[in-house]
Amino acid sequence: MSLFLQLVSVSKAVGEVRNLAERCGQEQVPLNDALHRVLASDIYADVDIPGFTRSVVDGYAVRATETTGSSDAIPSMFALAGRVAMGVSAGKNLQPGECIYVPTGGVLPAGADAVVMIEHAELIGDEVLIKKSIAHGENVLLYNEDFSKGEPVLQSGKRLLAQDMGMLAAAGCREVPVVRMPKIGILSTGNELVPVTVRPQSGQVRDVNSYVIAATVRDWGCFPVFYGIVRDEREALNTGISRATAECDVVLISGGSSKDERDMVSAIIEERGKVLIHGIAIAPGKPTIIGKCNGKPVIGLPGHPASAFIVLIAIVRHLITAMTGETGSSVRTLQATLDQNLPSTKGREDYVRVAVKDGIATPLFGKSGLLNTLVRSTGVVRVPAESEGLETGTLVEVILW
Ligand code: AMP
Ligand code: MG
Repeated sequence: MSLFLQLVSVSKAVGEVRNLAERCGQEQVPLNDALHRVLASDIYADVDIPGFTRSVVDGYAVRATETTGSSDAIPSMFALAGRVAMGVSAGKNLQPGECIYVPTGGVLPAGADAVVMIEHAELIGDEVLIKKSIAHGENVLLYNEDFSKGEPVLQSGKRLLAQDMGMLAAAGCREVPVVRMPKIGILSTGNELVPVTVRPQSGQVRDVNSYVIAATVRDWGCFPVFYGIVRDEREALNTGISRATAECDVVLISGGSSKDERDMVSAIIEERGKVLIHGIAIAPGKPTIIGKCNGKPVIGLPGHPASAFIVLIAIVRHLITAMTGETGSSVRTLQATLDQNLPSTKGREDYVRVAVKDGIATPLFGKSGLLNTLVRSTGVVRVPAESEGLETGTLVEVILW
């Protein structure tokens, strides 16, 4: 008989963790430390970007209409009226029949509206032969074409990427308002667990989950706090949970989350707070607990590393994004074609590991206790609860690790 008679759906579990989420506060960090952090308020440009119309090539600033009809065979002749230096105003206005040399990034002189690349010009003494007909605006970046002063350049809730760092710099944002990194307490429970430094004897396994969990939450912009290996004993678990909930925003415990008598995690959460959900219709990951102690979300993850990992991705991720207010999805996916049938039980959301090569997704069926399928896989395919499986040849969306 199943001990999990009342499994809740993944969407219900996600709703529950979102309800538990308390929004993190914010802090200012120096620009250099802002990468991957979630922006806490909109950023406005403090200047026009660019602040002047500039050339994007090395060449000759001209009035575009004066180049009409120019070609290699029939070039047009312009008088070279000067040279623009980098970092200073153009100085001179362009008169009809003239051209002015402008380096890449140099200011476009007033009167000019386009730049002919030096490749299409030939300097002969004080004259320049232009060998190409160019259009109005060609090879120039217009004044405030990128952003205008006072315009929002980045929106609150965005997780900052490398290119955003450049935008912040251009907008003069030296101190960046970001969401505080949630502190995630991590406990591994099981009398068989030994630390990575110990060579396991028969019956023992090294603690894998602490590292998987810490790395995952770190990737999400959280700050992991290790509470180590805790024995499957009331006293040890009690102490661990009470310390972790006092010091962190969320506590993730892996192992001991089943409904077996030895599995005390749910009993202790219930004693110290409340178990809201115990058992989710997800595979792998069924024996998952969602609860609250000390006002903090406490999640009991299954001990099998693959199961714990899937629950992190399918459920805990939503808790974290609800806390940080991150908008948009940082989940990356890939379309691929299944090369085998994927059977699935109706009523349960399945996450099947797949290896993708050249657009073909090969399921790596395996027990959730195996690490090798996790390591060899490219990502997972989600089979919705209402589906009875997917057939060979189906185009699927692979959630990339
Ligand atoms: P449990 O969820 O406690 O019943 O554990 C299920 C399986 O996962 C058992 O084989 C455990 O030894 C294993 N396991 C539990 N915790 C960890 C961990 N932190 N690292 C690696 N394996 C674990
Ligand atoms: Mg256990």
